[in-house]
Amino acid sequence: MSNPTPRIAIVGAGLGGLLCAVVLRRHGIRATVFERDAGAGHRGQGGSLDLHEDTGQAALRTAGVYDAFLDLSRPEGQEMREYDHAGTLVAHEDGTGEPARPEIDRAVLRDLLLDGLGADGVRWGTPVRRVGLVAGGRARLVLGDGAVEDYDLVVGADGAWSRVRAVVSGAVPFYTGSTLVETWFTDVDRRYPVLAGMVGNGMMLATEASDPTRLLIGQRGGDGSVRVWIGLRCPLDWAERVGVDLADTEAVRVHFLAVFAGWHEDLLRVLRESEGPFVSRPVYRLPCPHTWQHTAGVTLLGDAAHLMPPAGQGANLALIDAADLATAVAGAVAEGSGLDAAVRGYERIMHPRGAAAAEESVRALEQ
Ligand SMILES: Cc1cc2nc3c(=O)[nH]c(=O)nc-3n(C[C@H](O)[C@H](O)[C@H](O)COP(=O)(O)OP(=O)(O)OC[C@H]3O[C@@H](n4cnc5c(N)ncnc54)[C@H](O)[C@@H]3O)c2cc1C
Repeated sequence: MSNPTPRIAIVGAGLGGLLCAVVLRRHGIRATVFERDAGAGHRGQGGSLDLHEDTGQAALRTAGVYDAFLDLSRPEGQEMREYDHAGTLVAHEDGTGEPARPEIDRAVLRDLLLDGLGADGVRWGTPVRRVGLVAGGRARLVLGDGAVEDYDLVVGADGAWSRVRAVVSGAVPFYTGSTLVETWFTDVDRRYPVLAGMVGNGMMLATEASDPTRLLIGQRGGDGSVRVWIGLRCPLDWAERVGVDLADTEAVRVHFLAVFAGWHEDLLRVLRESEGPFVSRPVYRLPCPHTWQHTAGVTLLGDAAHLMPPAGQGANLALIDAADLATAVAGAVAEGSGLDAAVRGYERIMHPRGAAAAEESVRALEQ
């Protein structure tokens, strides 16, 4: 016996939402994916991700795009170099060890999933304004233009500031006390050979043992660029407090050169010569563990469910959440068992997994 195909809405065409839709489509279930961005190229997708075997890579296998991922990924991107503030290399992993965690640019991975979904897979430029519950364990979406649509299941894959989350939980992300200020370089091998050498094929981290309130991270992208993050322990309104206008790139540069005074010249050049403006990205997280009472008709995955500080797990978890949820739903449809029981089963696995990763990420941030 099989169930009639449920009407499923996925809010958010990030990595989690897209992978969920791809897996459902493989099982013959067409979910509607709502994305507020006007199109795939609407905004930059950020840096490079290393995908872990049991989570990110496993999810890509479930979605049937693992071989394509291997073709596009950069195993050499796992290289990691750590420097002290005097510019001395204190640790070096060449990236050939186990477990294998190949890197892939986030934009490339997203395009891979979009290809898997097909041209009509996403309703671009369609923000979801509000979500509510209606009779019979169903959920109602109110779209940006006021239109109303009802679904058997709404999946909140809408990231840190999820609108869907409010249906199941009152939790709101809070500032961790850390901020990453992002800037970047293009064509590093030709134009910035010193930086290219420090970053190698993967990532560099520079810290000062006596002062853990500031650090520099550099990460190579697949397109010859290097993305740099200045990590700071600081108040949320740090720029205002020090009287720096973030739109004034040269003033921000002068500020950071003072903050990092005494560091080796090669590291200071990263601040002095960066091409991009400086974009302040405060790090927020949800309380941990973040769980909720199961609510028929609505569930969450990825950052919407367990936003945590960036420590290499968030995207991997979004992908495996999505694979597990879609597989559970497809199984219920095929077997004629209840959709709601399938979602409960997914949440039983996702909650402890998300909580454990969030705890680890918080510890990593504190260190
Ligand atoms: C600096 C930084 C570095 C990171 N590095 C790593 C890393 O190396 N490895 C790793 O695993 N993780 C990393 N992460 C974490 C990772 O980026 C996230 O955990 C991951 O992107 C979460 O995926 P998601 O699909 O849940 O949400 P998102 O990727 O945030 O996608 C959510 C989507 O929902 C859309 N949306 C939001 N609201 C609405 C709405 N109301 N209506 C319609 N659409 C909406 C958004 O536009 C977006 O497309 C990093 C994070 C940061 C900030």
